[in-house]
Amino acid sequence: MFERLTERLGDAFRNLSGRGRISEDNVREVMGEVGTALLEADVHHEVARQFCDEVARDAIGLGVTRSLTPAQEMVGVVHRKLVELMGPGDPQLVQASPGPTVVLLCGLQGSGKTTTAGKVAAWLKQRGRSVLVAACDLQRPAAVEQLKLVVEQVESEAKGGARVAFYGEPDRCAEYGKAVGVAVAVAQRAMKAARDGRFDTLLVDTAGRLHVEDALMRELEGVRQSLQPHQVLLVVDGMAGQDALVAAKAFHDRLPLDGIILTKFDADPRGGAALSVRRVTGAPILFTGTGEKFADLEPFHPERVAGRILGMGDVVSLVEKAQEEVDEAEAQRVAERMAKGQLTLDDFLGQLKTIRRLGPIKKVLGMLPGVGGMMKDLPIDDGQLDRVEGMVRSMTADERSDVRLVDQQKSRTRRIAQGSGTTAQEVGRLAKQFEMMQKMTQQMAGMGAMGKFKAMRDMAGNAAGGFPGLPTRGSTQTQSIKSRFKQRKKR
Ligand code: GDP
Ligand code: MG
Repeated sequence: MFERLTERLGDAFRNLSGRGRISEDNVREVMGEVGTALLEADVHHEVARQFCDEVARDAIGLGVTRSLTPAQEMVGVVHRKLVELMGPGDPQLVQASPGPTVVLLCGLQGSGKTTTAGKVAAWLKQRGRSVLVAACDLQRPAAVEQLKLVVEQVESEAKGGARVAFYGEPDRCAEYGKAVGVAVAVAQRAMKAARDGRFDTLLVDTAGRLHVEDALMRELEGVRQSLQPHQVLLVVDGMAGQDALVAAKAFHDRLPLDGIILTKFDADPRGGAALSVRRVTGAPILFTGTGEKFADLEPFHPERVAGRILGMGDVVSLVEKAQEEVDEAEAQRVAERMAKGQLTLDDFLGQLKTIRRLGPIKKVLGMLPGVGGMMKDLPIDDGQLDRVEGMVRSMTADERSDVRLVDQQKSRTRRIAQGSGTTAQEVGRLAKQFEMMQKMTQQMAGMGAMGKFKAMRDMAGNAAGGFPGLPTRGSTQTQSIKSRFKQRKKR
């Protein structure tokens, strides 16, 4: 997401950075470009205009024009204002005492309510809160069934020991549209079931239409009045652009909203909804949906998203995700082996698996500062990582602990290639690159802290070409690592 916007903003600021001192006119000029970039990203026009006016005013007021590094200071002001525009973020789900806490999900048809219900249930389950998920979308029996399947999957697969259960009355769908209050009656019985079953949370999935409609709004108001939810969350389809904003505003006018969950964040390259929805509705964005699976829910942190938009990466989110996934003791063990220069392919495989648990590789790399813009060129994708994993899995224990065996014997290379459905050439490349990495870590084991830092920096600089098992953009890069390595040895 935001790729285009990031690129455009980068261009706008680069124009500034070429100059020593800048004038107020320069600031306005840059903000004009920023404004165009925002409109292209599908930001609401009023929001974009107001944003640019405010940034220009603040920047001039703060004396950016007198600064020695005006471009950097401008980026600072824009960052602060982006945070203000999207925040404050407080990705909390309320917890009422006594329970059950009632959370109502509403939104247009196809916005992602049902999927999000599963995500929120998984999120709560992981945090030890039991959830009853109620199907109050009675437009079609299939909608009830869809939620049931989603909930069953969360129940059996999501992390955490707390209970997750489904409440639904598919037979009632026949009455829907003929009698009033069917959804309200089901919601009330769901509430009773949540109380009787002593669930911490009752999560209610509701009906949506393609457009905001009076009948539907009345139904939602009825459900709200009878359940008195502690939190009403609007699910907004990030990909729907301006339409999503119009709908969000219409919902907000009828139902007081406590927060927004912005879905399809993964599939929206422009990000306009994220930048406008807070100003348009006044409700904070609590979470983003970043995929179709129940684990793809992320708390919304405006500072980090603003950083990502400005190409500063999102290291904090990555570290947090890593902390959830990484086994501390194992990481420590591998770090020690690496420090001693004893890294094996088994360690490598373990680390590779950890990285992959963080998400699709492009997404993980996109969170690193500076990498975002280079992404297009990196010859890494999940399919290739599958091949690397396959190759390591086809090696014997001996080969994994001493990769030179593979490199030395053609018969081994052939066997591994056959076993993993790859080519002998690929296996050879993996072995060579891994061997080289091993030598570098061995070399590093004998260096002081500064030497290690420099060596790591060199390695990182060659990450695109030096990742074991992946094709390089040109063999010259591999060559350059080798020659550097030789040079270091000579020194
Ligand atoms: P509802 O009509 O509001 O209940 O919407 P659904 O939950 O049925 O979702 C509609 C479609 O959007 C489905 O195909 C979902 O898989 C998809 N979807 C929902 N959330 C996300 C998301 O965060 N990312 C992506 N890529 N797809 C999503
Ligand atoms: Mg649905």
